[in-house]
Amino acid sequence: MDLVTLTEAGLYCPAGDFFIDPARPVARAVITHAHADHATTGHGAVLCSAEGAGITRLRVGPQPTLEALPWGEPRQIGDARVSLHPAGHILGSAQVRIEVAGEVWVASGDYKVEPDPTCTAFEPVQAHTFITESTFGLPVYRWPAQRQVVADMASWWQRNQAADRASVLFVYALGKAQRILAGLGTLLGDDCGPIVVHGAMTALTDAYRAAGVRLPQTSLVSALPKDFPWHQALVLAPPSAQGTPWMRRFGAYADAYASGWMLVRGQRRRRAVDRGFVLSDHADWPGLLQAIEATRAQRVLVTHGQVPVLVRWLAEQGLQAGALEAGYGGEQELETAVTVPDA
Ligand SMILES: [Zn+2]
Ligand SMILES: [Zn+2]
Repeated sequence: MDLVTLTEAGLYCPAGDFFIDPARPVARAVITHAHADHATTGHGAVLCSAEGAGITRLRVGPQPTLEALPWGEPRQIGDARVSLHPAGHILGSAQVRIEVAGEVWVASGDYKVEPDPTCTAFEPVQAHTFITESTFGLPVYRWPAQRQVVADMASWWQRNQAADRASVLFVYALGKAQRILAGLGTLLGDDCGPIVVHGAMTALTDAYRAAGVRLPQTSLVSALPKDFPWHQALVLAPPSAQGTPWMRRFGAYADAYASGWMLVRGQRRRRAVDRGFVLSDHADWPGLLQAIEATRAQRVLVTHGQVPVLVRWLAEQGLQAGALEAGYGGEQELETAVTVPDA
């Protein structure tokens, strides 16, 4: 019996009559996390983790009833017993465990296994069938340690300060921005110097603080005077701000991009920034294999990324592996059109 099937609206659990991260409005949605391609609007009822309730509400809008489930607490939905378990991807990101008549499936959502100061760590959950994402499901993807990446960012910032130019770091506004802020706060202290953020990040960053995540002080770019000493500042901005008139106020600046895709030379070139920092909120290749093994699942369904490569590798390990391709839009501009990396 398949506890989860793929429909046009996305992953569907017939026993509980609910969808997981549906791409279109449904009566009942279980939302794994608040990234835009997972948390869509227009649903009747939404179930999400208690940890992610604040940012999920920001994304799904005021209409749906929103039920916030503490980690691991079971919730009966129809014939399905549902519980949520930390996925370690961003604040509140959940894996969905579904049990029907002793059969257990876990849908991972997006996940990473490396500890992240801004969210509860990934929890391995045993399952008969595991649905895994595979955004970075190629052996070439191996992340440097996050502490080292943050230290590299800090010294890049300090070198720019010494050269009297602003440091503009392009990052995804939800998850990555807050993770970098937390890392810099730990490394340099909470009053580590002027960190200014784009307006797209303020509500999300405030929601992280409201959820109890410790972040260094930040100011909103548009609230600062024109003669602000930008050359001392670290500016966090979404990639969509690159090349816009919004950037003019900074005067001389160096720019950088933080993403797992920065491991790929062609992607670095395409972004046309001075510096690429390799930092991803998704599991790298060893992380995917580690997470899959920890579930002890005999059957693994692969979605959301490098599907054929991971399916083939898992089948070669003797697992029952298949593709479950959902119509995800890709939550990051860069998470598209990467098939074969050139570095
Ligand atoms: Zn995500
Ligand atoms: Zn995603």
